[in-house]
Amino acid sequence: MKRISILGSTGSIGTQTLDVVRKNKDKFEVVAISANSSINLLLEQITEFKPKYVAVYDEDSAKALKNMIPSDIDIKVLSGMEGLVQISSLDEIDVLLTAIVGMIGLVPTLEAIKKGKTIALANKETLVTAGQLVMEEAKKRNVDILPVDSEHSAIFQCLNGENKKEIDSIILTASGGPFRGKSKQELEHVTKNEALKHPNWSMGRKISIDSSTLMNKGLEVIEAKWLFNVEPDKIDVVVHPQSIIHSMVQFVDSSIIAQMGCPDMKLPIQYALTYPNRLLNDFERLDFSKLSSLTFEKPDLNTFPCLKLAYDSLKMGGTYCAVLNAANEVLVNEFLEDKIKFYDIPKYIEKTLEAHKSIEKPTLEEILHIDNWSREFVKQCIK
Ligand code: NAD
Ligand code: MG
Repeated sequence: MKRISILGSTGSIGTQTLDVVRKNKDKFEVVAISANSSINLLLEQITEFKPKYVAVYDEDSAKALKNMIPSDIDIKVLSGMEGLVQISSLDEIDVLLTAIVGMIGLVPTLEAIKKGKTIALANKETLVTAGQLVMEEAKKRNVDILPVDSEHSAIFQCLNGENKKEIDSIILTASGGPFRGKSKQELEHVTKNEALKHPNWSMGRKISIDSSTLMNKGLEVIEAKWLFNVEPDKIDVVVHPQSIIHSMVQFVDSSIIAQMGCPDMKLPIQYALTYPNRLLNDFERLDFSKLSSLTFEKPDLNTFPCLKLAYDSLKMGGTYCAVLNAANEVLVNEFLEDKIKFYDIPKYIEKTLEAHKSIEKPTLEEILHIDNWSREFVKQCIK
C-alpha cells in the first residue's frame, strides 16, 4: 500500500490523481489532501477517500471547512503554509504528489525531500524557481523526483535503462497551444477566453495561459534541465500538434527513442505512482489505423517570445529563472483578470529580467526574497 499526500487535490492534476486512486484502492491510500480554498470539493473528497489530514491554505476557508465536516469523521484540519508543510512531511506518507500551481509549492516540497519522501512532481514552477537547490537536496537524501508532466514522464521512460552520458539531446514536443499558426498582429488583442481554449488538453487556468504563450514549454525546458541534468543547448522543442509523441531522447549514436500514447494525464500520474512498475488500466489505447498523420514544425519564437525568454533565463543561470517564473505568475493572473494584454506578458517579463541582478548559487532565503522582488517590480511596471 502506497500512502499519498496531495498538494492541490482539487485541481486538474489533483482530481485526476484521485481518479487513479479510485480505481486502485487496494494499492494506494490517500492520507492527506489540500487546496487553496475549494472547500466544497475538499469535503466531497474527504467523504470519499477518508484522509487523516486536510490542509486549506486560506485561513477563513479552513475554518469554514472545519464547521462543515460531520462530527463522525475523524480528520485534522490544517491551514496556511504551515499546514501545507505539515501534510508534505507526515510520517504516515511515502509519496508527496505535488499538483499545486505556482512556486508556492517550493517550501513544502523541500520539507518533504528533507524527510525522505518520494516526490511525484507536476508542479513545474518549483523546479523552475529553485531547480538546483531542489535537485541537490534530493540527491543528498537519496530521494526520487518522479515527473508527472507528460513530456518529462516521456523522457524519463525513454531513459529507462540507458546510460545518461550517452544522451545527445532531449526533444520536447509541444502542441503549439490554441494560437499555433497565428501571427503577432492577430494575437495583439486576444482575450483570456480564446487563450483558455486548448486544443488537446483540459487543464487549470494558469497552465492553459502558459500554453497559449508557449511559456509552458519554456518552463518545461527549464524543468528538463534540472530533472535530467542536460544543458540548455541540448534541449530542443518541436511543435507536434497531435500530442501523440509526448517527447523523445536522441542518443549519441543518432538513435531516437520516443514515448507515445493518447493525450491523457492519468497515464503519467499513474506511472509516477507505480514506478518502477506498470499497472494494467482501462485507458484509451492508441489506434494507429485511425491516426491520419503525425506532423512536426519549428516553434515560432517571434510570435511566442516567452519561449525564448525562458531559454535565455536558463542560459544566464543564477536567479534569472526564479525572476522569470515570478513575473510570469503575476502577469498571467493579471491577464486572467483582463487587466493586461497578451503581449504585455513577455514585455514585462523582459523588463523585469533586465532590471534583475542575479545571484550565482542562491540559498532558499535568497530565492524567496528574489521571487518577492520580481513580483513587486512587475506590479509596479503595469501600474
Ligand atoms: P489547477 O489550477 O487546476 O489546480 C491547482 C491546485 O492547486 C488546486 O487544487 C488549488 O486549490 C491548489 N492551490 C493553488 N494555490 C494554492 C495555495 N496557495 N495553497 C494550497 N493549494 C493551492 O492546476 P493544474 O492544471 O492541476 O496544474 C497544477 C500543476 O501541475 C501546475 O504546476 C501545472 O503546471 C502542472 N501541470 C498540469 C498539467 C495539467 O494537465 N493540468 C499538466 C502538466 C503539468
Ligand atoms: Mg507538459
